[in-house]
Amino acid sequence: MSKKIVVLGAGTGGTIVSNNLRRHLPADWEITVIDRDDHHIYQPGLLFVPFGMQKPGTLVKSRKKYLMPGVTFVMDEITHIDPEKREVKTTNHRFPYDFLVISTGCRVSPEENDGLMDAWGKNAFSFYFLDAAIQLQKRLKEFNGGKLVMNIAELPFKCPVAPIEFVFLADWYLKNRGIRDKSQIELVTPLPMAFTKPKAAAVFTESAREKNIRITTSFELNMVNGKEKYIESVQGDKVSYDTLVIVPTTVGDSVISNSGMDDGIGYVPTHQNTLKALKHEGIYVLGDATNVPTSKAGSVAHYEADVVVFNIMAEIHGVKPEEIYDGHSTCFIVYSKGTSSLIDFNYKIEPLPGQYPMPKLGPFSLLKETKMNWYGKLGFEALYWNVLLAGRHLGAPPTLVMAGKHVG
Ligand SMILES: Cc1cc2nc3c(=O)[nH]c(=O)nc-3n(C[C@H](O)[C@H](O)[C@H](O)COP(=O)(O)OP(=O)(O)OC[C@H]3O[C@@H](n4cnc5c(N)ncnc54)[C@H](O)[C@@H]3O)c2cc1C
Repeated sequence: MSKKIVVLGAGTGGTIVSNNLRRHLPADWEITVIDRDDHHIYQPGLLFVPFGMQKPGTLVKSRKKYLMPGVTFVMDEITHIDPEKREVKTTNHRFPYDFLVISTGCRVSPEENDGLMDAWGKNAFSFYFLDAAIQLQKRLKEFNGGKLVMNIAELPFKCPVAPIEFVFLADWYLKNRGIRDKSQIELVTPLPMAFTKPKAAAVFTESAREKNIRITTSFELNMVNGKEKYIESVQGDKVSYDTLVIVPTTVGDSVISNSGMDDGIGYVPTHQNTLKALKHEGIYVLGDATNVPTSKAGSVAHYEADVVVFNIMAEIHGVKPEEIYDGHSTCFIVYSKGTSSLIDFNYKIEPLPGQYPMPKLGPFSLLKETKMNWYGKLGFEALYWNVLLAGRHLGAPPTLVMAGKHVG
């Protein structure tokens, strides 16, 4: 009888893992990947939409087209996971499995934030999903000066550098339109600093200071008042705005909590090195759906996919899964149209200066604003669609490499 691997979610992580497993497993292993729609969105490109730097239509492609022959794509809503019976239910079917991979990502939920829906589309916007990013583009075009506030409602949220990139790009955009001197830009974050890692946060804070961008830290959002145009923290502090751009509260997909498998906010408790679900046999988790303490980022899903494939293969061959994953994450940070920085770090090692991926040669520079990094950011889109989603390797391991990094 054939053996079955079921992959939940055909986004970044689910697509890579499915293709990679197909390459490694003989044909008697069935690989089925389930997603609610056939629209794979290149999420890093959402950042550029509000500034008119990316056409929204170019960001969306068919999920099915990026899955290898031999991977079955099912378009359906996943409604329940039964880890005891080893079965997944969708609206229309049941899928028994030998191994399950959960890559259902996370969900941006503006309705979770008090007052936000009243202000939504009037003076409160976002760029974390496509319709919102298009709406924000219109608002920015009409923006003729005033106070632009970028707020992160709550931790955790995906792509922790995106709000920093947004305020840097807003500075470039408003300068370009000749209205920067009539505008104030402020980043309001629940973090105690601009980013999760102190050394990189200090570099970003200095860049923000040079760009005259204010950063307000440790601000836990309590409510949005769209009528009087301010946000208020749990402690009662208020920040006024003319245009609010927000990363709303982010939670794991409801199928995780409805199946009683979550950590309280919808994420699956996951071993941070093997990526195996902590409470269930035969289940691996990757990408934004995990609760491992690293960034919720596409690069993370990509590195994790390699580890998940390795460990499923190990288990199939009767070997214990290995504690390989080290929290590795790599992110470009756009500074303006034409320059970008780059960070590479893991659970233990903070972003360091240096060259990437090759010592001395680079061509990219770590923790430094360069034109070459910008080309890297732009080129990444083609790499994503044509190389990474296919589960192909670029010769690099999924874990952090110290070569090229300047310590001390
Ligand atoms: C504005 C923005 C900028 C970003 N920039 C970067 C960047 O520069 N670099 C970077 O590395 N990362 C970036 N990211 C983050 C990156 O896109 C995500 O971390 C990555 O896509 C996570 O992959 P994933 O597979 O975990 O989830 P996703 O790619 O989101 O896939 C999850 C899939 O599961 C499906 N699904 C969930 N629940 C169900 C259900 N119940 N039934 C059926 N289907 C379901 C969804 O439809 C979805 O397709 C950015 C994100 C945003 C929003």
